[in-house]
Amino acid sequence: MHELAIAESVVEAILERTEQRQVTTVRLAVGKLSGVVPDALEFCFDLATSGTPLEGASLEIVEPSGQARCHACQREFDVDDLILLCPCGSADVEVVAGRELSVTSVEVV
Ligand SMILES: [Zn+2]
Repeated sequence: MHELAIAESVVEAILERTEQRQVTTVRLAVGKLSGVVPDALEFCFDLATSGTPLEGASLEIVEPSGQARCHACQREFDVDDLILLCPCGSADVEVVAGRELSVTSVEVV
């Protein structure tokens, strides 16, 4: 499962910085176009943190929406799924936001 690998690498990256301190809250930005399902990620986060100083930490996920720019008409528009089609009909579009997956903050005791 894709989300488990992501959860594990997030946990690993946090542990590298917080070491043995107990983490109470982890905030993540998961872009709507990242292909990651927040519910699945949350479930996997619980598995990945088990037995680490992150165990029991609450996970808060924000989902920035997607933005794309059309190369044909230069318009920028919102995209909430992976159908990248400009209202002008062109599919020559570039995703400019919404693919991010990042830790935005962590609270430690
Ligand atoms: Zn267009």
